Amino acid sequence: MKTGKVYLVGAGPGDLGLVTFRAKELITQADVLVYDYLVHPELVKWCRPECEVVYVGKQAGFHSVPQEEIEALLVKHAKAGKHVVRLKSGDPFVFGRGGEEARTLAKDDIPFEVVPGVTAALAAGAYAGIPLTHRNTSSSLVFLTGHEDPKKHELQIDWRSFGALKNTTLAIYMGMGHLRQITTELIAGGLDPKTPAAVVQWASLGRQRSVTGTAATLADLVEKEKLGSPAIIFIGEVVAHHEAIDWFEHLPLFGRRIAITRTRDQNSELRQKLEALGAEVLELPLIRVVKDVAKENLFDIFSEFGSYDWIVFTSSNGVRFFFEEFFRIYDDIRALGGLRFACVGDATAKAIEAHRIKVECKSTTATADTLADALIATDSLDSAKVIVVTGNLNRDTLVKKIEAAGGIVDKLPLYRTEKTDLAHDATADDFRVRGADAILFASSSAVNSYSEKAKSLKLADDAKRPLIGSIGKQTSETLKEYKLPIAFEAKTPSLDALIEALIKKLK
Ligand code: SAH
Repeated sequence: MKTGKVYLVGAGPGDLGLVTFRAKELITQADVLVYDYLVHPELVKWCRPECEVVYVGKQAGFHSVPQEEIEALLVKHAKAGKHVVRLKSGDPFVFGRGGEEARTLAKDDIPFEVVPGVTAALAAGAYAGIPLTHRNTSSSLVFLTGHEDPKKHELQIDWRSFGALKNTTLAIYMGMGHLRQITTELIAGGLDPKTPAAVVQWASLGRQRSVTGTAATLADLVEKEKLGSPAIIFIGEVVAHHEAIDWFEHLPLFGRRIAITRTRDQNSELRQKLEALGAEVLELPLIRVVKDVAKENLFDIFSEFGSYDWIVFTSSNGVRFFFEEFFRIYDDIRALGGLRFACVGDATAKAIEAHRIKVECKSTTATADTLADALIATDSLDSAKVIVVTGNLNRDTLVKKIEAAGGIVDKLPLYRTEKTDLAHDATADDFRVRGADAILFASSSAVNSYSEKAKSLKLADDAKRPLIGSIGKQTSETLKEYKLPIAFEAKTPSLDALIEALIKKLK
């Protein structure tokens, strides 16, 4: 059997945008994924459903899989011919024991590749507005680990010698447990106690927190503000720039926890938009969209594309599944003939346009009703043949309106929406324990599935009660049916308007 290959891949500091293209490509192709604590859970969802996922994470104070066992696991799967991705937070060769794993693979003649990642210190500097070097004041940069055996009373690193360095930025990983000892030793070694210093926890994520002070005051400040791991400690003149150039912590939703109810399979436009505004997003996986093709309808419609005038989509899932089926049968886009495309909302239009197809009719808002009106306004429906791509939850108003205007509709069901199990979901757990500042509903069906899950989403007594936001009238109606109090509603049914209402409410 052919030996597989192991990829030692850096997952970056947390923010999904900071994952490399190469990392994403390898994760989506993996047969086996072995990953650590601190790797963003979303990354794990990129793998194929048949990929074997193994968590070997460590968390301070808890047992984890011993290093030799991890290495044996990589070797075993590679020898079985598998494409193995070993995913590590940050960069695999920076305080990540990647060197040890690579040596074992080399020794056993297993092919491997190393994919660098954005290491935590770089992310912490960028997202806290602390340049790591600066002309004149800081011409060298040292990465250090503060992690030492807590049972040993003496520190192994000679911190005093680092305290004597001039014009240097110190970036200390895993040092929170020994912060006071570390700063004391640095000062004893000659560091000016007034040297600017900072701690940045959960860098690059919505839950990032930071404090800045001096080498002498940092330990007290961190205690007072209750900051902990994972964090980077910075010591050096460069920290003084934080106040002037701290861009991330000034974003309008920074420090806010926003729960959303999108599904794994939909594009996470809402998540991306909220994160770009600094929010910490909890994506509750209430529903799951599963491809479920009505084969007979598909066969009938696909065998005579030429006879149809319009094809209508109400979700980006529909678009995705349609083209998957289309390209399974045809290898030339011209098989679509002169079919005209219509759709609801911007996200769906984007999914169509990604195939270089022009959307000729788009609803101004994200509802099927306004799409029907827009189609009617094209004055082309009389005796026109129309394909409407649907899921199991679509209401029939769209079809009825098109038929009333003289169109002949053939439905093409391609997917169905299912409920998911939240009992063992990490995001749901986080929501139950800590709550959120707000929860956003972008559709009636999300409200329905949220209400059905209400019991398994019950908040702890001291969890923050989220304000409820609705994308529009229809969703609000459904919220009222369940007696859920609406704190804000979007002016127009679009994601941007929903976010605008959220920001206004939280101000
Ligand atoms: N290989 C990783 C480091 C792993 S060691 C890298 O290159 O980043 C784990 C330590 O990394 C943590 O104790 C903390 O010091 C740091 N760290 C990881 N993610 C972090 C984050 N998002 N913010 C701040 N520090 C982080």
